[in-house]
Amino acid sequence: MDNKTSSSNFIKNIVAEDLKVGKVSEIVTRFPPEPNGYLHIGHAKSICLNFELADEFKGITNLRFDDTNPLKEDTEYVEAIQEDVRWLGFEWDNLRFASDYFEEMYNRAVLLIKKGKAYVCDLSAEETREARGTLTEPGKNSPYRDRSVEENLDLFARMRAGEFKDGERVLRAKIDMASPNINMRDPVLYRIAHTHHHRTGDAWCIYPMYDYAHPLGDAIESVTHSICTLEFEDHRPLYDWVIAECEMEAQPHQYEFARLNVTNTIMSKRYLKILVDEGVVESWDDPRMPTISGLRRKGFTPEAMRAFCREIGVARAYSVVDERMLEHFIREDLKLKALRTMAVLQPLKVVITNYPEGQVEMLEAENNAENEEMGTRQIPFSREIYIERDDFMENPPSKYFRLFPGNEVRLKHAYFITCQEVIKDAAGDVIELRCTYDPETKSGSGFTGRKVKGTIHWVDASQAVPAEFRLYEPLIIDDAEDSGKPFLERINPNSIEVLQGFVEPNMKEAAGGDKFQFFRHGYFNVDPKHTRAERLVFNRIVSLKSSFDVKA
Ligand code: ATP
Ligand code: MG
Repeated sequence: MDNKTSSSNFIKNIVAEDLKVGKVSEIVTRFPPEPNGYLHIGHAKSICLNFELADEFKGITNLRFDDTNPLKEDTEYVEAIQEDVRWLGFEWDNLRFASDYFEEMYNRAVLLIKKGKAYVCDLSAEETREARGTLTEPGKNSPYRDRSVEENLDLFARMRAGEFKDGERVLRAKIDMASPNINMRDPVLYRIAHTHHHRTGDAWCIYPMYDYAHPLGDAIESVTHSICTLEFEDHRPLYDWVIAECEMEAQPHQYEFARLNVTNTIMSKRYLKILVDEGVVESWDDPRMPTISGLRRKGFTPEAMRAFCREIGVARAYSVVDERMLEHFIREDLKLKALRTMAVLQPLKVVITNYPEGQVEMLEAENNAENEEMGTRQIPFSREIYIERDDFMENPPSKYFRLFPGNEVRLKHAYFITCQEVIKDAAGDVIELRCTYDPETKSGSGFTGRKVKGTIHWVDASQAVPAEFRLYEPLIIDDAEDSGKPFLERINPNSIEVLQGFVEPNMKEAAGGDKFQFFRHGYFNVDPKHTRAERLVFNRIVSLKSSFDVKA
């Protein structure tokens, strides 16, 4: 299913070449999330890239949690991330945590100090920032830069022992305060944080910085191709410096690619967390969220997400992908798989006055008009049915081919009916239609006597199953005129619409995660968070058509 030729992927070419010339004998990749939130569709791109490269070249992929910032991290996220990676269809060779290596990282820092390559600095964060210089001006050396090795060893040991308060001291690399690359101006390697860590508890009160921990983690795991997003390009000299100066045996290399951006989509855990914390959405897996768990609950499939990631390819050029492209792939995936049934989202009752009272007949309906193998089902038809409220108009414009007084339409899988009478309540709202049907026009009977222009869907009223339908629109709007606004002011107030209607009786048994195509309405997923005993809730995954052509 997944062996279509992929779009361009320059990293794949590098890997193939490295194996060919014998630069590496086996490739090792890793996916290194920080457990500070749930994964989003951007992470899916990185997951697919790392795991599929290793699969294709018979290598290894580790899942490594970058848990070096205990203040923001939590076991809930560690578990959710594992679930999401597995759901996407990947299994890691090794599960690792940066915190597994804290002792080794500490020892390597001691080595740096002994080599005169690191020092303890007492400047405040503010003073450090001021001394760092700018893109055009060099930085200034810290007054603590020339501390003796002995003093540095003693202070660093005391930092570890908990003798100092948060922010009082840091360990810095001694590189070059005049480097044109600001990342090389004596970057901080360790900071003090008296914070409980979700795995190491209170064993540590100093924690390594990302730029120090990441290359060491890669080297310890013998990662060959360390793939990250372009923001880290300027960090690569530091990455290489850490590996060389810490005298690591393995020599991983960092490669950067452009991160995934999608229109109308917030792509950052930090911002997504604000949406959850502020109650803008129900949870991380709210179907409006671009998280993997949100998209799963909405009804996306792993196959569709992987096909999407493959299609967008891997490049270094900045780009924004149209959100409709993701929708294209879920339609493609479900087109031949999903049962096609009828659901009425906004019901209007129709009484068929010439149909015998008390009679119920079963009609045959194909399960998927484009896939005969899915077979047929029987649906009941009787004197009372529901149709869609907007499939009727009392005073229609020209070219309106659905129901209006005196007009005849086809009921999908059933008969032609003609609207004879409109019943209204005291307020003048239409509450019921009286129609007649023509028994000669039964679907599948070969009737050719006359044609009608409109076909509408319906559900038998006596056996219909009540259901809730949730229709979604983008949560955030990136209209050009709004783009300067803070993101909490760009929230779409109409991101969800909830309707109460009916589905066919055979859908009583639908289970969470089952996916259907509802005639004319689109693809829907049974919300896994609502049990059947409570009520059936359907999330709309996507409408049926889009103007978007993926190849355009
Ligand atoms: P966020 O800002 O959402 O927290 P992050 O990059 O800080 O993103 P990490 O958990 O550190 O999140 O990322 C794990 C991996 O996923 C990294 O290798 C990162 O480069 C990659 N990644 C994150 N966002 C994207 C994206 N939008 N497109 C591609 N890869 C991404
Ligand atoms: Mg991060």
